[in-house]
Amino acid sequence: MNNLVRTFLCFILLLTAVPAADPPALQGFSPDSATSERAWESKFKSVPNPERMREYMQRLAARPHHVGTAYDKDNAEWILAKFKEWGLDARIETFDVLFPTPKERAVELLEPKRFTARLEEPAIALDPTSNQQAEQLPVYNAYSIDGDVTAPLVYVNYGVPDDYEQLDRLGVSVKGAIVIARYGASWRGIKPKVAAEHGAAGCIIYSDPREDGYYQGDVFPAGPWRSRDGAQRGSVMDMPLYPGDPLTPGVGASEGAKRLAISEAKTITRIPVLPISYGDAQPLLEALKGPVPPPNWRGALPFTYHVGPGPARVHLKVKSNWDTKRLYNVIARIPGQSESDIWILRGNHHDAWVNGAEDPVSGTIAEMEEARGLAELLKQGWKPKRTIVYCVWDGEEEGLLGSTEWAEQHADELRQHAAVYVNSDGNGRGYLQMSGSHSLEKFVNGVAKDIDDPEKDYPAWKRLRLDRIANASAEERDEIRKRSDIRMGALGSGSDYTVFLDHLGVASLDLGYGGEDGGGIYHSIYDDFYWYTHFADTDFRYGRALSQTIGTAVMRLADADLLPYDFTGFADTAAKYIDELEKLWKSKSDEIKERNQELEEGVYVAIADPKKTLVPPKAEEVPPFLNFAPLRNGLDKLRRSSEHYDKAVRQTALGAKSLDAVNRKLTQAERALTLPDGLPGRPWFRHQIYAPGMYTGYGVKTIPGVREAIDQKNWKQADEQIVRAGQVLENEARVIEDIAAELER
Ligand SMILES: [Zn+2]
Repeated sequence: MNNLVRTFLCFILLLTAVPAADPPALQGFSPDSATSERAWESKFKSVPNPERMREYMQRLAARPHHVGTAYDKDNAEWILAKFKEWGLDARIETFDVLFPTPKERAVELLEPKRFTARLEEPAIALDPTSNQQAEQLPVYNAYSIDGDVTAPLVYVNYGVPDDYEQLDRLGVSVKGAIVIARYGASWRGIKPKVAAEHGAAGCIIYSDPREDGYYQGDVFPAGPWRSRDGAQRGSVMDMPLYPGDPLTPGVGASEGAKRLAISEAKTITRIPVLPISYGDAQPLLEALKGPVPPPNWRGALPFTYHVGPGPARVHLKVKSNWDTKRLYNVIARIPGQSESDIWILRGNHHDAWVNGAEDPVSGTIAEMEEARGLAELLKQGWKPKRTIVYCVWDGEEEGLLGSTEWAEQHADELRQHAAVYVNSDGNGRGYLQMSGSHSLEKFVNGVAKDIDDPEKDYPAWKRLRLDRIANASAEERDEIRKRSDIRMGALGSGSDYTVFLDHLGVASLDLGYGGEDGGGIYHSIYDDFYWYTHFADTDFRYGRALSQTIGTAVMRLADADLLPYDFTGFADTAAKYIDELEKLWKSKSDEIKERNQELEEGVYVAIADPKKTLVPPKAEEVPPFLNFAPLRNGLDKLRRSSEHYDKAVRQTALGAKSLDAVNRKLTQAERALTLPDGLPGRPWFRHQIYAPGMYTGYGVKTIPGVREAIDQKNWKQADEQIVRAGQVLENEARVIEDIAAELER
């Protein structure tokens, strides 16, 4: 082959490898007015101002502002005043929720020697807000039940179900014991939940320096990482059951709402729990004897880790004020001009555990600058087609309280009108982090291509793509290079999008920047203005980038003739999820077969050291084959209808039609992925394609009903859930098919 021919062939190959460019409609532009839409966007992007963001942060994080404090209310009123000053129609909506705050806390080592945990984060001279002790919420886990227990201590690693299987093999029981678990591997609320299921009497959670301290880098104030006495507050409410006010599940906690008695609330822990620093944990863990656990159980404290039980005996006491506190959500509404009954929602919380400069204020200030930017455009004559709702939530930290109560209160309207909810929660320096409903993946990719990365001279999208390549396996790299869109992760729970996506079926996004500014101040008194301006997005350029990113997304969603959903990417991702489920079943099945065979061969007897305890695992029944056909059939229909829709969008002269009816139907597409009776044992969670895991908490489970049944080896339930998930994909296919037909009419 001569060179010319080769070059020509390469050229042809290249042409076929590059996917057809997406039409403007799939990127969120109106075919006939894309130029003016872009002009408004560039006007918007010049508004967000890093200097203003610095000022907002200094003000909002000046004092502790958790739910129920004067400064929490003051911040809400200040944000409201700003919105009004900029000309927006805004108000505060309140709810009254159960919010326990600590009255008595104790962790004491009684044997083999005495030690009393400090349970306090000391003020640091360099850090001017760290000395506001009078207003700081002490180190504790909210929604721990009251309790006073004394018992032997057992170390349970991360305290997830797998760790208890390992404990069984080590011959260690936690019945009647106090367990000590390290933060990590699961959402914190899972640790006391699983401990209680195994009969423990109390639970202590600590930050190990391996994940959250000197092992990672220099500790505060020399560096950003968690110091010896730094501790992580946080909620331990059973949020995989339902988030929000424990006393008003499923309805808004308004004045007249029917409330459960505290004793009837199902999301309060069954055993007392307290978080401690590694400074406080060290004497406790050092006093343990018993087996040395496997290497993946060992943290970075300077001694050999043991599991116990004992000889360490511990006294744990938790007592709270079980008060009702008022939430202040700030809600601003920009009415739409022609499709005002379709709503684009945007939110970030304003409450914090303490001063909360990073969590959440770094996100709140980006949201505020977006609101100011949109208000500026309105003054210059910009008229969004759809209604835009800006929400600044209260009470996120304790259990997604503000967003959940508000969305439950307005559930009927939201089901009818809400098209998309865009969330953020804290922001930092680095790469764009995006997750959400897969039908919005193509749209978000388009937005990210139009945002400049503050540290490189190219778009945030390109930087993210190159970062993905740097961190991918060979197979993944190949896909990243070929695929026109960067894949977007699914959402589980963990921030204010939860009620919108999981409960109401509103397509949602969660966006933020980060990855370069590691830190260990999460939920501590040191998450403040000093820390943020020394170790995070110190010049607020990524704050501006976040404002530009989400503001641009909101404008496109509000203005495009056709709502910019794309279902081919969703079908492609759903196929991956089904493959993963089949693999999960196969690996569980193989694992059980292999273990049964090794038991028969006497492998476990042979490897048992007679001087140590290592109990052999139990033989198990080999799983039956599961019938994945209902899911595959649903997927097949989804594929065909998504391709049909894609073709309809590409081939229809959109400018010539009224798209009101199509858009109204499009808002319902994500709704079709929900079922009214929810997941097994968790009816509040209605989304059948993604949800937080029952034993991972925030960790996403995709096709969660099936996945959890396989994890729990409940094969009958797995088959039932496959049928339900298949049904949901078919429902979705029907909705999309109907919209495609409507477009072509
Ligand atoms: Zn947050």
